[in-house]
Amino acid sequence: MGDDLIERLRAAVGPQHLLVDPDLRAPYETDWTGRWSGRARAVVRPADAHQLADVLRICLAAGAPAIAQGGNTGLVGGGVPRGGGSEVVVSLARLDGIGPVDGSSGDVVVGAGATLARVQEAARAAGWDVGVDLAARDSATIGGMVATNAGGVHVLRYGGMVEQVIGLEAVTMAGEVLGRVPALRKDNSGYHWPALLAGSEGTLAVVTRIHLKLVPHLPDRVVALLGLPDLDALLAVAGRLRRGLPSLRALEVMFADGVTLTHEYNRLPLPLPGPPPVVLLVEVADAAGTRSRLFDALGALVADDPDVLATAVADDELGARRLWRTREDHTEAINAAGIPHKLDVTLPTANLAPFADEVRALVTSLAPAARLVLFGHVGDGNLHVNLLGLVPDDDSVDHAVLDLVARLGGSISAEHGIGVAKRADLPLTRTGAEIATMRAIKAALDPTGRLNPGVIF
Ligand SMILES: Cc1cc2nc3c(=O)[nH]c(=O)nc-3n(C[C@H](O)[C@H](O)[C@H](O)COP(=O)(O)OP(=O)(O)OC[C@H]3O[C@@H](n4cnc5c(N)ncnc54)[C@H](O)[C@@H]3O)c2cc1C
Repeated sequence: MGDDLIERLRAAVGPQHLLVDPDLRAPYETDWTGRWSGRARAVVRPADAHQLADVLRICLAAGAPAIAQGGNTGLVGGGVPRGGGSEVVVSLARLDGIGPVDGSSGDVVVGAGATLARVQEAARAAGWDVGVDLAARDSATIGGMVATNAGGVHVLRYGGMVEQVIGLEAVTMAGEVLGRVPALRKDNSGYHWPALLAGSEGTLAVVTRIHLKLVPHLPDRVVALLGLPDLDALLAVAGRLRRGLPSLRALEVMFADGVTLTHEYNRLPLPLPGPPPVVLLVEVADAAGTRSRLFDALGALVADDPDVLATAVADDELGARRLWRTREDHTEAINAAGIPHKLDVTLPTANLAPFADEVRALVTSLAPAARLVLFGHVGDGNLHVNLLGLVPDDDSVDHAVLDLVARLGGSISAEHGIGVAKRADLPLTRTGAEIATMRAIKAALDPTGRLNPGVIF
């Protein structure tokens, strides 16, 4: 591989969209957490699917690995180079078109590089919304969200990313196009590309356009933080809220240490005194004109609940955003405190509280100086396990935590994916036959293994 590769890539995308200068490459070479980084041979920014197909063919001919990158907010090291200068980062940033919202069917076609926030804005202007929402919305792209099958804060109402995708278009390493956009709501003519590519983390093909199903925009929302004595009490309250509130949209858990860390970071006053040992964020949302009904319904359920120690409620948009900061600023606050080891796990509901207790004991015994911060999408059984103060390259505590997850019947990745961070742990929750089948699918789409090598396996 020599300058010929660079010259051919430059000819394919134009000189200003081929980045070889180290300063220009740098933002694409380190992940959001700062834990994963490498040196890229070059960064290319194709303008459309045709240029992308050319770029991938050129890389394949030169034997150069290619790594798709969207907003670079992934948390498992799957979108940045890992080697010492052989990989080409393919940025989807320029494929950011957003088509007109179809008000009759409630859908929209977007480019893979469109950020979630821009698509939300376009959808909301037309009375619709995107079913998936997450704190990295200003940078995370729809293509990256499909590739990771992102979850986020509204999964309990609308499902994850794959459930929002009517169809997609993707390009293989050989430059062949899979799928079609716009797609049809019903199309059982063979294998379903969105189902195959959602969660494939850029290892099978590069997603270029997505036909998204939208949900109705619900402008009226009420948000509450409930202070609780422990996770068992939280789960009991959550069950009552699920039964009693059809408009429920989010159930998020935080713990006192994480809430304190977050408010030291964002410098906002604590919304609940103490803070209480466990905090549940509840969001209900519905059509315009329903705010007071939502407020009364939520209030009636929590006012006399014997488990609730303290409550903060916001029935105006500014207040709602402020209460969300307690939860959404967790990730930034943790990163500001050091480079974390981040694990993202799901447990069966019955094992959430035992896991939370056991993981604290486990970390204390294995790494007494480490700091553990738990939070997550408790409505989906999903906890984010953040470990600060570990030696960067020592994954022994990570492995022990994931082993505990597997023993309690959980998954080692709820929504962030496997990336490079957890590939050694995949056999904990996937059988040998499953992994062999995944490898066979990978080999069918990418026989020479040049697309995002080293991710997942
Ligand atoms: C503050 C913060 C909060 C977050 N909250 C959540 C959350 O609530 N839920 C959640 O699920 N995640 C969350 N994340 C993680 C992250 O935002 C998601 O994984 C998101 O889907 C990544 O999108 P991206 O465009 O940044 O992808 P990148 O980070 O650029 O890439 C991620 C992976 O997808 C691949 N990829 C990217 N684009 C394409 C494409 N077009 N075609 C094929 N492969 C591609 C990459 O190769 C890589 O393997 C959070 C991250 C941060 C920083």
